[in-house]
Amino acid sequence: MPILSSGLINSMDQLFVEALGEMREFMGRDVTIVNNTKINCPNCLLSYTEQESAGIYSPDDPYPSDVPGPIPFSGGFCPVCKNTGWYVIKNQENIKALISWASPGDRQYMEAGIIEPWDVSIQVSIDDADKVKNADEIYVDGQKVEFLNLRKEGLKTLAGATIELRKI
Ligand SMILES: [Zn+2]
Repeated sequence: MPILSSGLINSMDQLFVEALGEMREFMGRDVTIVNNTKINCPNCLLSYTEQESAGIYSPDDPYPSDVPGPIPFSGGFCPVCKNTGWYVIKNQENIKALISWASPGDRQYMEAGIIEPWDVSIQVSIDDADKVKNADEIYVDGQKVEFLNLRKEGLKTLAGATIELRKI
């Protein structure tokens, strides 16, 4: 592939990558991704089956800073885990993206074809693409959406990825 490997094309690719990066920076908005980590409740003792709380106050030491508490309690009900025995820590991250919501006309066209209808398409950097794909929760402009499809095509492979998402 002598043409593709030439210095001229490579520098054009580089310009394309930089231009798209700048567009994301100046015209993009934040897409919020959330990843959930489930941990044993640090505020109470687990039951012997370890499937639920034993309802006994027993704070971990050190106590994790990203969980409310420690909250002393009596009466058999842990206020941190509501006696489930576990707690979900939500790790949130914002990612810059060029966001395009499908218009009603687009949607009609998509439903007439064989492509699965999507509600919003976002263009992100390659580094962020898998983060969005693997996130537990995705929010675009405050709307919760789910992952449908990830496209890395041609020159875009260098500069970013287009991800199609659907409202939930
Ligand atoms: Zn608990």
